[in-house]
Parts: sequence; C-alpha cells; structure tokens
Amino acid sequence: MILNYFNALAPYLPLIKAPMKQKLSWQEALQQCVTRLDELAILIPAAARHISTEAQNTFPFKASRRYLAKINPHDATDPLLLQILPQAIEIQPKDDFNRDPLEEHRYNPLPGLIHKYSSRVLITLVGSCAIHCRYCFRRHFAYEDNRPGTQGLVAIYDYIRAHKEINEVILSGGDPLLANDALLQSVIQSLSEIPHLKRVRIHTRLITTIPERVTPELIYALTHTRLKSILVTHCNHPRELDDDIATACNALVQNKIMVLNQSVFLAGVNDTAETLINLSEALFASHILPYYLHSLDPVAGSAHFEIPLEKKRALYTEMQEHLPGFLVPRWVKEVPGKKHKSIVG
Ligand code: SF4
Repeated sequence: MILNYFNALAPYLPLIKAPMKQKLSWQEALQQCVTRLDELAILIPAAARHISTEAQNTFPFKASRRYLAKINPHDATDPLLLQILPQAIEIQPKDDFNRDPLEEHRYNPLPGLIHKYSSRVLITLVGSCAIHCRYCFRRHFAYEDNRPGTQGLVAIYDYIRAHKEINEVILSGGDPLLANDALLQSVIQSLSEIPHLKRVRIHTRLITTIPERVTPELIYALTHTRLKSILVTHCNHPRELDDDIATACNALVQNKIMVLNQSVFLAGVNDTAETLINLSEALFASHILPYYLHSLDPVAGSAHFEIPLEKKRALYTEMQEHLPGFLVPRWVKEVPGKKHKSIVG
C-alpha cells in the first residue's frame, strides 16, 4: 500500500526538487514563525519604537522567518514590515472602517461556510495563518464560531449538494494550506463526489511565506481529483518573492495547477507605479499570473493603508501603459450586498 502510494508520487518528484532540498519541512517553518514582539524588535531594530502592544491586542503579530528575512532591519518604512507591524495608528477609529466590512455574517449559513455569490461558496477550513496581515478584512472574523470540524464539513457538503447552482468551492481561511495533506485530500475527495462542482480554488498566503508547503502530497491531492484545481497566492510587493517560491510555483504549474495572485492596493507598500509594474513582472517570472488588485476593504485598524481614489486611478493607468494586458490584474472592489465584485479598472 505504502509502496503504491510512493509509486503514484514518483512522476511528481523531479518537479519539486528545490522545495524538498529545503532544510526545514513546512511544519517546522511554521513552528518557527515569530509571534513575540520582543523578538521582532531584535530581528528588525527599526521596528522597535513603532510597535504598539495595544494594536497587538486587537490582532496579534505573526510572520514567517523567510518573510522577516526580506525586511531591511534598519528601515521602519520597509514595505514588507508595514504589512505586519502592529502600530498605534490602528487604534484610531475611522468613519466607515468597521469589524466586518464585507458583512460576511449575512452570508454565513453554516459554521465555516460563506455563500455570497450564487455559483461559489467559501469554506473557512482553518482559522489561522502563517502571517498576520494588518489590513486583512478578516482580522476580526469570528473564527471560533466558524470551525467546521468533521460534522460541520458533512453539513457543508450536504448544503452544496442541495444548491445545484454552486459549481466552485473556495477553500480559504485563515490559510487553508495550514490543513494537513490528509485533511485537504479528504475534503477535495468529498467535494469531487458532488456532481455539479467543477472547480476547487485555494486562497493562500503560505506559498509566498512558506513555499516548503508545496509537497508531493499536496500536488497529489490537487491533481488526483476530477475537479480543476486553482491556487490563488497573495503577494503585494515584488520583494516578497524569491527563487524557492518560483520553484514551488513552477512545480504547481508543471502539474497543470493554475497559479494566480491577488494583491491589495496599500499605502506605503505598493503605492508607486514602479512597484506595481515590478510586482506583475516578478509574479510572472515566478510562474504566477496577476489576477486581482483589490481596493482596500475598510476593516477597522487598516485606514492608514488607504490610497486616495484618484491616486489609484493614476497608478492603474500607468500599469496599463507599461504592461501587456495579461500582466495587468483586474482592479476590483467588494461592495457589501452586491452579488459580484465590482470592477474598478
Ligand atoms: S487570511 Fe490572508 S490576508 Fe488575512 S491575515 Fe491570513 S494570510 Fe493575511
């Protein structure tokens, strides 16, 4: 039985050489994520005097060591640092910024299930991440009420089976790739038994923070299903990418798994045309297609990331002028109550 399993994996092994050469497994890299602010201050001295424990209390700091290693330790304005740094400015209330900006509680028929758009449902498979992004629209999400568990997953499958208009399931979170391969494989297998489903989409920031997550077992789970698998990474700045990430994405693409990226317009992070153009180029060089560029969702604590609309328009126009169409992500905005994303650009 074990032999058969490894025989089945054999064709994939040459394509995932580099991630397997990593010294750490993804579980070890995950365990070594930094969560203590005193350690952050040691690793990134420039961050020390900007850290706010009050902001930390609303949404705790967390980042992988790979991500932290890309930050200039002497630059408090480093775009990668700003994405993860709990700052006092988060505590200042701002009109129109609230705890549930997309009103997801209205579309939450079962624990762990969000059904907002008619043909797609989203399962919050896991309530944790390898990195805590300060602008995350789910930073206040009630994950404790949305852990489906084994029984909950059965109820979710029944719900999907009863809603024939659903043809795609999005595994999200938290980060669904923090689920182990056995759970992922079992979920994908159960979904593939629902005849009207066509696709499974995985939204993850793990590939760009812990690319070791691309294991033979993961590729096996994503390819040994009748469902078409799509992986959507999340990357906002070209410096987040590296050779290991490119190798991991290449392994996915070589196995016919589509890899797309979504990013968010963020002040201080990617608010220059040069950065956004370089991001698209770097993504493509890493075997990832730019898919969405989101306007910031107005979640409480993130107002300092907002870019004025006119500036976003100018940036987007410059992207269109300098990039081929296939490297210009769709600029979108979520409007609560709308049955689809609003295309801005
Ligand atoms: S769900 Fe995604 S955006 Fe939100 S904190 Fe986790 S990794 Fe970041």
